[in-house]
Amino acid sequence: MNTIEHWINGSYVPAGERTAPVSNPATGKVTARVALASVEDGNAAVAAAKAAFPAWRDTSLARRTQILFSFRELLNSRKEELAAIITSEHGKVLDDALGEVTRGQEVVEFACGIPHLLKGSYTENASTKVDIHSIRQALGPVAIISPFNFPAMVPMWFFPIAIAAGNTVIIKPSEKVPTAAVWMAELWKEAGLPDGVFNVLQGDKVAVDTLLTHPDVKAVSFVGSTPIAKYVYETATANGKRVQALGGAKNHMIVLPDADLDLAADAAINAGFGSAGERCMAISALLAVGDIADSLVAKIAERARGLRTGDGLRGCDMGPLVTAQHRDKVAGYVDAGEAAGATLVVDGRSVMPDAEGEGFFVGPTLFDNVTTDMSIYRDEIFGPVLSVVRVDSYDEALATINANPYGNGTAIFTNDGGAARRFENEVEVGMVGINVPVPVPMAYYSFGGWKNSLFGDTHAHGTEGVGFFTRGKAVTTRWLDPSHGGINLGFPQNN
Ligand code: NAD
Repeated sequence: MNTIEHWINGSYVPAGERTAPVSNPATGKVTARVALASVEDGNAAVAAAKAAFPAWRDTSLARRTQILFSFRELLNSRKEELAAIITSEHGKVLDDALGEVTRGQEVVEFACGIPHLLKGSYTENASTKVDIHSIRQALGPVAIISPFNFPAMVPMWFFPIAIAAGNTVIIKPSEKVPTAAVWMAELWKEAGLPDGVFNVLQGDKVAVDTLLTHPDVKAVSFVGSTPIAKYVYETATANGKRVQALGGAKNHMIVLPDADLDLAADAAINAGFGSAGERCMAISALLAVGDIADSLVAKIAERARGLRTGDGLRGCDMGPLVTAQHRDKVAGYVDAGEAAGATLVVDGRSVMPDAEGEGFFVGPTLFDNVTTDMSIYRDEIFGPVLSVVRVDSYDEALATINANPYGNGTAIFTNDGGAARRFENEVEVGMVGINVPVPVPMAYYSFGGWKNSLFGDTHAHGTEGVGFFTRGKAVTTRWLDPSHGGINLGFPQNN
């Protein structure tokens, strides 16, 4: 059986003693094994990144952007290949996998503009014949630790900007979806990136802890569940690193009584069941305001029943969950919701998938009359389970969202501009959609949530990403001329 290896210093490095199985979630079959790094493997990856750093940071911006453009061209011409890899290890349908690659590619395109983004400022004659200018410089080796649900896009939120800015990178992909990262490593090599600038360390907690504590790793970008994000933030900052740790989510969509209910029902389906709900921007709680709830639930149920669940390579609407354990966990939440007294309108536990073998399927599931004390409301389920919570007013809906410990994404559906504007102003969430259910910002804006959805100060990509992967320096300059002699031990005055 094929073993997916590390990629260190421009070539594959074989697995040591520890490996883990990798499955195709649509068939349930183990398709490969993945290396699980030892501390020594982690040290080797960091050493390669450290050795490559001085030459890479001194490589001209012109040359760096040429390599980025080549990577973009190769990615664009071969993205179907990468999408097929994502579908075979994650399970999401092929179209969705292609969408993920496209969103990642947009960050590569943004990073191609790095010469402009790294421009500093200049002040002439700040004091008499004294000038000041600012520059931004690379940090060194940086670690990117990513979750299973976006094997290509999430690493691409970070590495194009990190590399463009002159850093070297060690990626630790999720052990459930290890192939996309090494596929991209090969692409970088073809694009002309020097060895050691982009490294992939396969593994689990051992690999993560090695990166979080290694003195030569200067910054950590993490994306995953909230408890691990918090752990990563605390451990890496205690080890002197700059950290952005994006965590889990529980995203709400408000539907006001004046909204177009067909548009809102379509949006709830797309945002609730796209990628089988395994998106940090998925809508999992729908707050139906006033007397529209019966009609809205009927429209969503009709659409949910019409979805085809199955193998993502067969043109289905929705694929499987990532592992058998995760399928069981999601089904367990459906059991718990039923036991707690929520109305189970569409039950995905009994879905008949269009797939061969024993895939990890739960079909679209819709609950009505959910209350905020139920576990299906409180917890991030990360599956195709949409909960409708009935509320009496906009104020009650807003208070529900603001009381939630997560603050990643949210959306409001309404035709009332004043209500939408109020929501935008009042809601305590990092990314807001107005009649847009999954408001993922474009590459030139920054992605990130509030509260338990992000630990650290900077969001991903956009100019915040450039700021994260560089540090500023201010330089004060005076070119002496003969009129400037003399000794003065006082602190310089503004003159
Ligand atoms: P996860 O937290 O289990 O894993 C994320 C990464 O951490 C993986 O690389 C994994 O190997 C590593 N890891 C797991 N356990 C660890 C431990 N004990 N110590 C150190 N490292 C450990 O998350 P996941 O299941 O892969 O991904 C789903 C989660 O990611 C969801 O909670 C989802 O909301 C979140 N997510 C958030 C965003 C965002 O932008 N906020 C984006 C995508 C996913």
